[in-house]
Amino acid sequence: MDIKDKSLLRSEAYINGEWIKKETTFSVYNPYNQVKIAEVSDCTQVDTESAITAADHAFQIWSNYTANKRSRILQNWYKLIIENATDLAHILTIEQGKPLQEAIGEIKYGASYIEWFAEEAKRVYGDVIPGQSRKNRITVIKQPVGIVGAITPWNFPSAMITRKVAPALAAGCTVIVKPSEFTPLSALALAELSDRAGFPKGVINIVTTKDAASIGQSLTSNSKVKKISFTGSTPVGKIVLKQSADQIKKVTLELGGNAPFIVFADADIDAAVSGCYDSKFRNGGQTCVCTNRIFLHESIHNEFIEKFATKVKSIKTGYGLDKGVEIGPMINEDAVIKDINLIKDATNKGAKVIAGGMRKKGLFIEPTILCNIDSNMDIFSSEIFGPIAAIYKFNSESEVIEMANNTKYGLASYFYGRDYALIWRVAEALEFGMVGINTGLMSTVTAPFGGIKESGFGREGSKYGIDEYLNIKYMCWGGVE
Ligand code: ADP
Repeated sequence: MDIKDKSLLRSEAYINGEWIKKETTFSVYNPYNQVKIAEVSDCTQVDTESAITAADHAFQIWSNYTANKRSRILQNWYKLIIENATDLAHILTIEQGKPLQEAIGEIKYGASYIEWFAEEAKRVYGDVIPGQSRKNRITVIKQPVGIVGAITPWNFPSAMITRKVAPALAAGCTVIVKPSEFTPLSALALAELSDRAGFPKGVINIVTTKDAASIGQSLTSNSKVKKISFTGSTPVGKIVLKQSADQIKKVTLELGGNAPFIVFADADIDAAVSGCYDSKFRNGGQTCVCTNRIFLHESIHNEFIEKFATKVKSIKTGYGLDKGVEIGPMINEDAVIKDINLIKDATNKGAKVIAGGMRKKGLFIEPTILCNIDSNMDIFSSEIFGPIAAIYKFNSESEVIEMANNTKYGLASYFYGRDYALIWRVAEALEFGMVGINTGLMSTVTAPFGGIKESGFGREGSKYGIDEYLNIKYMCWGGVE
């Protein structure tokens, strides 16, 4: 393993500024070769309670720091992450599988949230509002919600943490992170750097476990935890939301997606092919904003497929640490089986394989293109989360809008076209939280990331992101004469 600073490789939980080694552990495997890379502390509800107590105590300190002081510590953390980006990316690649260059990209993208919210910490402004009566004055202030429970997935083991933790800390909250059991090492490496950055103990806690359900239960049922921010699947998001309902906790949910990618007749086909490739195959198709359904206008259908297939057939799959590899393995066996079944179901119902279509040794599926897809196939409504491009044909704007919106999900959507009026109509008609117009990549710290419908609610990043961690307090000043 080519990691310069070996102290970034931690396997204990991080609670109240201390590394907690547990007798009981769970194994973390490299998805490329299934070699065990770590035995990580398996925390219980008791550990979670101590993390909550620590975060509660730390909240009294951290929330009373000036915004400038919090900002400086966040900036220290940001700098340390950037300085150690290559090591962090190595850790990410060996536990998650994505190619090293992509992992470096994730580390920098994740760090950008810390940098951004270190600045936003200083801009938590209130309001002075004219009263209805001359006797009254109205002021509004914003205050941190309190302790935040952050539950994060394996597909972006680093960035999904910073996207929640950075705005929470900037607002003055303290956090308990429960990372995915598949990828806890990136979370622990971030904790090690946060330790060096100078956060008071208890401000950031990482509870590692393989028993997500019981830790989720602890976080949602403890009244000291005021906010749950969850990124993951829609079914688990629903559990977390139901559990949080008991205490009416504030909740942010970033759940599954079923992104349409529409190419209209007048689109720049080369640009559309390239955008589609980016949005479909990034992270091996394992992102919630990945293109899931490709709708091609009949007039450009064949030309697009020909160009797209040339690109897809040249994709190099393999070990993320090897040079030139563009797609790593899937995360686990379940993910492979689910996708192979989607391919089988589609081909049984009449889909045609244009590229790939087969499982390869290990946790790999060949980058695949299927055409002649229709809405009766499972792949229409399932989140693929793998390297399979499913192509539909359409001939009218109204037909494609109806098909694109025919999903319970509402996260990302994309389309390519040039006509100005069409662009406005389509962008307004798509029932999704995000619309990429002539681009296949749109996640950036300066923009609000999030969904509608069963893709969840709340936004991460941008000026809106910090509001998720703030309460609005209205003060009415009477007797002012
Ligand atoms: P995926 O594995 O597709 O990312 P999941 O929703 O299974 O999506 O996992 C996202 C996060 O939710 C992970 O950290 C996982 O451990 C956690 N999780 C799984 N089940 C529960 C649960 N019942 N309560 C709370 N968190 C859970």
